Amino acid sequence: MAWPAGVHSAAISQARPRLLSNVVLRQDHSATGGIHPYHAAIWHGSNVPQAVGQALQIAAGPSHGWGASSILMPTKYMDGQSLSPKDIDAIAVTRGPGMMASLSNGMVAAKTLASVWNKPLIYVHHMAAHALTPFFTEESPPAFPFLTLLVSGGHTMLVLAESVQKYQILATTSDDSIGDAFDKAARDMGIPWGGNTAHSNPGAALEAFAAAADITTVQELKEHLRKQKNIALPSAMRGQLAFSYSGLKATVTRAVQALPSDVKTRRALAHLFQEAAVAQISEKLRLVLQRTLDLPIKDVVCSGGVASNSFLRQHLRDTLDAAGKEGTRLLFPPLEFCTDNAAMIAHTGLLFYEQRTHDLSIQPVAKWNLEDL
Ligand code: AMP
Ligand code: ZN
Repeated sequence: MAWPAGVHSAAISQARPRLLSNVVLRQDHSATGGIHPYHAAIWHGSNVPQAVGQALQIAAGPSHGWGASSILMPTKYMDGQSLSPKDIDAIAVTRGPGMMASLSNGMVAAKTLASVWNKPLIYVHHMAAHALTPFFTEESPPAFPFLTLLVSGGHTMLVLAESVQKYQILATTSDDSIGDAFDKAARDMGIPWGGNTAHSNPGAALEAFAAAADITTVQELKEHLRKQKNIALPSAMRGQLAFSYSGLKATVTRAVQALPSDVKTRRALAHLFQEAAVAQISEKLRLVLQRTLDLPIKDVVCSGGVASNSFLRQHLRDTLDAAGKEGTRLLFPPLEFCTDNAAMIAHTGLLFYEQRTHDLSIQPVAKWNLEDL
């Protein structure tokens, strides 16, 4: 959750908002092999109050760092003044989509503060916040209409952003998300993450693991998989504007069981999995580019946790170039703003400031179509 503060309409246009703090307390789900709804709810219940407390403390302190709930303030507050509730104009909070228990925790915290401080609330759509992240991370934000790829643990979507409030979903997943596929593949391959490892999530751990794959082994394994029908990695939904990752997930599980378990083979398999997962994204981007030729698209924004994957980044650039779109910008938020963070909610709240309300009866929504903003 986040507080965009000092945003009287005149102040927004005069002073560029600055981020005073962005506290992210990550839950380590490695012990349960992934996000377990019960544990997520319990951890969230204690992490939300802590994150809120820390974010306010950091913002009230003399030096405003990029810590890890977020506070956006006009620059006048950046000269050592302390933040206090009177400086806060509204509280932005994620309303959905997502896990009900987590959303409820955040919303109750936001509503409590709004009630205590008598501030309005801005209810934010999580995916809109991912799509709009470059509006605060880029010196020169994307121009509407732009394409946005949302690749995360919960979503795999290619969306046409027509305005801050208007989105057209061009392709979405018919089953699992790409992030889910990375998580499952990493688990099947026994790639360590969380705890004392260098990686806080399975996807990043798989990327690092695959980066050390031996090219010859990769080629040999590719050839082998092609010949073995039941473990040939599928290129799903070819020619269609839809994603599917359940087939790839299931095939990787079978391949792990069927192949030798030495590290060399595992790294090669991780590489081929990543290649297949990313190829699907590139193919849909290519299709959409062909079908939106009449639209003046100058920017493609890629956000969500999987957007931090360097292999994906390179392939998307190559796809744009191969489609003759060398001049089209490909924007990725900095890593800390690719995965879930409160700064993107605070900033999106600022963009939706006109929708602020004192209505405390608004409920979280687990499923919320981006087209119904
Ligand atoms: P989000 O739902 O936006 O918080 O993103 C979390 C998802 O992103 C999880 O499924 C992670 O495994 C995945 N992820 C994070 N970093 C990477 C990476 N470098 N490569 C692939 N997937 C990643
Ligand atoms: Zn997200």
